[in-house]
Amino acid sequence: MTFQEGGSFEGGRVRKGGGRGRGPLIAGGGIGAVLVALAVAFLSGQTGIDLSGLTGEDGGGSDALGEGQAQAVGDCTAEQANTDLECELSATAQALDAYWDETLPAQSGVQYELPEVVSFTGQVSTGCGAATSAVGPFYCPSDRTVYIDVGFYDDLTSRFGANDGGLARMYVVAHEFGHHIEQQIGAMEAADRSGTGPESDSVRIELMADCLAGMWAGHASSTPDPDTGVTFLEPVTEQQLRDALSAASAVGDDRIQESATGQVNPEAWTHGSSEQRQRWFTIGYNGGTIQDCNALDAPSL
Ligand SMILES: [Zn+2]
Repeated sequence: MTFQEGGSFEGGRVRKGGGRGRGPLIAGGGIGAVLVALAVAFLSGQTGIDLSGLTGEDGGGSDALGEGQAQAVGDCTAEQANTDLECELSATAQALDAYWDETLPAQSGVQYELPEVVSFTGQVSTGCGAATSAVGPFYCPSDRTVYIDVGFYDDLTSRFGANDGGLARMYVVAHEFGHHIEQQIGAMEAADRSGTGPESDSVRIELMADCLAGMWAGHASSTPDPDTGVTFLEPVTEQQLRDALSAASAVGDDRIQESATGQVNPEAWTHGSSEQRQRWFTIGYNGGTIQDCNALDAPSL
């Protein structure tokens, strides 16, 4: 996926947070479960949630980049967005903003509110508790923030076996924005995300986010940047689409379970199978609407 020549993206959209070199974290199943209930991580909970508690211990200004001195990703040209991962994240966030700013009110009557976007390394304090990069990218509904460690993209290819490529990475960001859209239209609140299994609301909320990500991807090359008038992305090629689908497939529960344990246990699913994740992304990509993406109420998944 390539940002269109002539595009430029103002800094400040993506905040930098987190920091390395801190003490070891306390992992705890119960505490982990609390965060899982509050945040929507990109990957299955089985793949290594590693969290410290929801205590004040990790809050406030103890981060390497504390609240008062928070930095942001600066101005980026399209060329930088095509070569630098943080610029790519900033540009992708702005492309998602422009798309949802039009589409959300048009299709649901809800005014789009910008989610915060944080690019972090190591560990980060969030409205859903402290989290580490091990959680993978996630959205926290209580602070309406998308948290991305761009280092995850290496895991996506090397550990989970997805194709490399810009659209694969953008799919990750668009999926988390999908959770924000779910939050805005009330789907997140309507869902009971405490359960697991192929028909669970947990899986439905994830498939819906994949579908909403597909909606954006299908329009990203025809959405102009309101700041510059330049269309965000060049038209999606077949290969780029395959890359995005390969990322969706790589993080399917069945695929992750199979590679971790050699077995598939649908009752433990939280995100949906590889086939389902690709299919729901495709529904959105091929002209689907928010209504079409409503996996929460879909009779079959
Ligand atoms: Zn998700």
